[in-house]
Amino acid sequence: GSIHLKNELEKKLLEKNLGNKYLVRGTGCLGPCSKGPAILMKKSDIFYENVQIADIDTLIESLLVNSDPVERLLHHSDEDGKAIPQVRDIKFFNHQKKIVLRRCGTIDPEKITDYIAEGGYIALKKALNELTPDDIIEQMKISGLRGRGGAGFPTFMKWGFAKREVADQKYMLCNADEGDPGAFMDRSILEGDPHSVIEGMVIGAYTIGASKGFVYVRAEYPLAVERLNKAIEDARQLGLLGQNILGTGFDFDLEIRMGSGAFVCGEETALMASIEGKRGEPRPRPPFPTTAGLWGKPSVLNNVETFANVNTIIEKGGEWFAQFGTGKSKGSKIFALTGAIKNSGLYEVPVGTSLGDLIYDIGGGTSSGKPFKAAQIGGPSGGCIPKQHLSVSLDYESLNELGAIMGSGGLVVMDEDSCMVDVAKFFLDFVLEESCGKCTPCRVGTKRMYEILERITTGYGKEGDIERLEHLGEWIKKTSLCGLGQSAPNPVLSTIRYFRNEYEHHIREHK
Ligand code: SF4
Repeated sequence: GSIHLKNELEKKLLEKNLGNKYLVRGTGCLGPCSKGPAILMKKSDIFYENVQIADIDTLIESLLVNSDPVERLLHHSDEDGKAIPQVRDIKFFNHQKKIVLRRCGTIDPEKITDYIAEGGYIALKKALNELTPDDIIEQMKISGLRGRGGAGFPTFMKWGFAKREVADQKYMLCNADEGDPGAFMDRSILEGDPHSVIEGMVIGAYTIGASKGFVYVRAEYPLAVERLNKAIEDARQLGLLGQNILGTGFDFDLEIRMGSGAFVCGEETALMASIEGKRGEPRPRPPFPTTAGLWGKPSVLNNVETFANVNTIIEKGGEWFAQFGTGKSKGSKIFALTGAIKNSGLYEVPVGTSLGDLIYDIGGGTSSGKPFKAAQIGGPSGGCIPKQHLSVSLDYESLNELGAIMGSGGLVVMDEDSCMVDVAKFFLDFVLEESCGKCTPCRVGTKRMYEILERITTGYGKEGDIERLEHLGEWIKKTSLCGLGQSAPNPVLSTIRYFRNEYEHHIREHK
């Protein structure tokens, strides 16, 4: 309802001759999905949640009565007489550290001037005019930025591998094929701040010596595609993309390629095959894409969130970025909180924030008020974290120790009503459906695991089924060709690890 609300607000302001005084701006996502439609009064920093058309008159009245922002802050109150808090007093805002999302929800993503007014393209100018590709790689190394798409590979290493290759053509690629159930980080960045991704890609292309790039984006994200297209066109017109960027003689241009809904096309070699117009199937590595990627040329693939971090690192320096996070996991991470959570939405926190802080301080606890049971992190490739590990630090190493992964940042919360065997079955069903079928362990193994889960949950579980699942799962992990198969058993294995009693209970029930 936000667009309708925006139109009505503009209309009412005009009717009251306030059109010149207050500017209504459509923005990308502010984060707290469960509180939309939302209005942020930028000057006074007041956040209005769940605003309806019927609230517009009251809102405008408050502007008229308390035209002085300080007065308004001191005296404005909602219907219950409670002061309406500023953003800095609201937990789900003030417990965050917004680096990537700092412009989302405050700028109009369709206006390149908004992005530039907020410091956009300063980093590109600095990179092209003041830094060599080696300087940039050094800053990326100091920053400690690791790929935000899931594997967490150090970005400086990937860029360094591609830079040292000698080739007549190199490619800079962006993976925007976000397909995990419950994940919408990349979509929100593209919809709310598309230029940050473009700027990161141009800087990366300059670093490795690429002249051509592609953004591979889900066709199911039409608004993201529309805004990205406009952003690319606007950047071209201002000389920030295309030939002779900013008069430096550096050429780099970008195109969008739309995915057709195959989850496996998020895997880098499958994604490149898909851009080439082939069936989106992974291939064995080596050679790694930094040596022989798209059309056999050196190529770097990073995801949306990784690229959106680059401008800040170049502008403020790697050391500034590295002050956030833990030993080997630096910066911030965006999480999409969904499931049985009160404040579902998109939140960016320093890497190393505890799961409990994310769920209770920012997420507001479970939506039902019932006790928290577990969180599935990392999507269908990830694992579940039970309540006894609520204090776990959300960083790559700590999550791996618990049998989960950071993944791209999808986090599904479950309360005590959830059956963990059903949860595991849901995620396994997803990967079974999405397996490309190229290799046997993934194609056949996940099917056999699903059949066992099916009989367990329908009352036909047998003695030894849990061990069968564990045995199969371990072999599928070891022998599958790509990351999809290698991580497919994770939800089953991690729920067996922490909720074995629920599997046993299902099997015993039958007896
Ligand atoms: Fe395809 Fe699965 Fe093998 Fe990956 S692991 S290549 S998705 S069959």
